[in-house]
Parts: sequence; structure tokens; C-alpha cells
Amino acid sequence: MKLYDTARREYVKFKPGHRVGIYVCGVTPYDTSHLGHIMTFMTYDLLVRRLEDMGHDVRLVRNITDVDEPIYKKAQELGIDYRELARNETASFQKILDILNFKRAYSEPLASDYVEDMAAAVDRLYEAGFAYKLEGDFYFDTQKVQQFQRFSGFSERLLDALNEMRGGDPNRRGKKHPLDFLLWKHIDDFKDPAQWKTVVGTGRPGWHIECSIMSSKLLGLPFDIHGGGNDLIFPHHSAEIAQNIGLGYAETAKIWLHVAPILWDGEKMSKSLGNLVYAKDLLKTYEPSVIRLALMNYQHRIGGEWQPELLEEAKTLYQRVKLKSATATIQDVRKLHSSVRSALDDDLNTVDVVSALQRFVDTAVDDQDNKADQEVISILNLIGLDISKYS
Ligand SMILES: [Zn+2]
Repeated sequence: MKLYDTARREYVKFKPGHRVGIYVCGVTPYDTSHLGHIMTFMTYDLLVRRLEDMGHDVRLVRNITDVDEPIYKKAQELGIDYRELARNETASFQKILDILNFKRAYSEPLASDYVEDMAAAVDRLYEAGFAYKLEGDFYFDTQKVQQFQRFSGFSERLLDALNEMRGGDPNRRGKKHPLDFLLWKHIDDFKDPAQWKTVVGTGRPGWHIECSIMSSKLLGLPFDIHGGGNDLIFPHHSAEIAQNIGLGYAETAKIWLHVAPILWDGEKMSKSLGNLVYAKDLLKTYEPSVIRLALMNYQHRIGGEWQPELLEEAKTLYQRVKLKSATATIQDVRKLHSSVRSALDDDLNTVDVVSALQRFVDTAVDDQDNKADQEVISILNLIGLDISKYS
């Protein structure tokens, strides 16, 4: 299997051992399940399915960021406890993933369950000289680790812009460098609902240290593949790498696999822009397999503008595949199977998977004594389309 590795900026051969560890940065559990999220998680779902198809034992860890500022804000707006909001949102997101036939993750850690470990890591970074204190808060000293600025390959100007755009605080007085990021936020307001008493004081962890801790605890470092949306390359994943280096781990993951966004009117779908297309709304009209098939028209590394007409096209194609599966010759079905596998092995090229299905329905020869329908089911299962439920 060939995958594009963000760190090396090229396609690399992926040759894992029997057990494969994958960590994907999950969601902040509020207002989830728009098509951008679904596209991201579908990419890793296909990766898991193909690796299992090859006989690997895959452990996919997808964290839940329940310790994060937007949740507290939203919970306050709704007048409920942030833990309750996180629980409800996580449950409804999981329901959507189940309906869309996503494989369950091996583990879905909650950041709030690992705060002690996060605080201990901040303490170790401080003792080792990779962190400094500022009015009770702790910051990572990014000048100590060159990889922090190098991982993305972005220009200094772009790093500055992204840092400002994505929650950094470049202008805070007393920081050693504008890109230094928060490891621990000191809280002295007893009414603040999310605070822990720890070795580094009372407060809560920064977002980046959460993923360093959950991934290393559950998979060990280095693990095989680290994933997430490509908006996480900087600063989030760059910060994870820097923190891990500070904690003594030169390598975090063997391959970094990122997914590009699905756009709507030229913009990334996001809560702040209010331009979201939700899977739950599409599910009122289209069956889950059709939604998956429509999204497979996007190459995960490129993404692109959402085109609603893809749903109708996918619906027609799916119908035709179902009909053809009952009549195609075994040779044509085997040809399809091998095309789908090769497409997935080519950096999860779902666009080629769709072409292979199209070729199959257009050209497969009909056979009176077809005995290949079971094999068609296993091909569709490999790409997460569930023919059995709907035929
Ligand atoms: Zn993360």
C-alpha cells in the first residue's frame, strides 16, 4: 500500500507489522457530523477496512476533545453542564457514524479522563527545560525544537497567520516567542466548571498536549499512522511532535495522513461560517451507502467543492451495482474486486474506486448462472457500502 506522508511530502510504501496502530484526532463534541467530518472519518474507515482485508489487526484510536474552550461556551449558552453536552453530542455523533456504517474505533478516549497524565507531562517538559511559566500558565518553548516549525514545510509568514487564526496568542506579553503554545491554563475562578488540581497547579490542559498523551498511552510511540484534517498540520500536529520530542520520543508516527476539507461556496465547512451540510439532513432523503459513495468522488488529499448532484449520481450507480451483482460473470466480479483493492492501495484513491464501479456496471457481461453475488457483497463491504441491508 502506498500512502502520501505529510512529513516527508511524498508517497511512501506502507509496510506495517501484523498490528497497526492509528490515531485520528477526533471531534470537539459540539455541532458535529457535517460532511467535512464525515469525509475525514470515512477516509480512515476505508483505511481500516483495507488493512483488515489484508489480515492486519487494526487499532484505531479516535479521541474526544471534551476539554476545550468552545464546549464550555456552548454549554453555558445552553445552561447545561459541559460534561452532559459532551456526552450528548458524542452519542449523537456516534449514532450518525453507525448509520453510515463506520467501523467502531478500538478506543475513544475522553481528554477529561487523562488530565493527571497531561499535567505530569507538562511538569516533565518544564523540568527538562522545554516549557516555561507565565502567570501560572505553562507555555511550550518552541525555539527548543526545530521540528515544530519544519514539520509542515510552511513559510514563516504562513505559520504566523495560522497561529493567529487557530487559537494562538502571539501578542501575549511575556511569551518568549509568538508561536509558543499553551500547555496548561491556570484557573483561579472557582465557578469555572473545568478545572483540576494537579502537580502543575489548578487549571486545565491545552489542546495539543491532550493528543500527545492519549496517543502515547493507548498506542505507544511511535505508532503507524497519525491522521486528522489538514487544518491540524499546524499548529496542532506540529505541537504534538514538539511535545513528544521534549518528552524523549524522537518519532511520533511513521506516517502522517491528512484529509483535505469539503468546501461549500469556496469555503471550508465550519461552525463559525455557518455553512454546514449535515449528514443527518441528507439521510432524510438518501440511504447511507449513497452518501458514502457520493463522498468517494473526492480524493481525500484534495477535497473540493461539495456538489449535491453527486448524490443523485451515486444513487443511480448504487442501484445499478446492486442489479448487476445478481447477473455479472464471476470473471467481471473478480476484476472489480482487484480494481477496488488496487485503488485503495494507491493512497486510498476513492475516485478510482467509483470509476471501477462505473466500469463494472457499464461493461460486465450478464451470466445466467451467476454465482458471484457473495463476492460483490464482500467488495461493497470493503468500501463500507452495505448491500445486504437495503436490497
Ligand atoms: Zn489531536
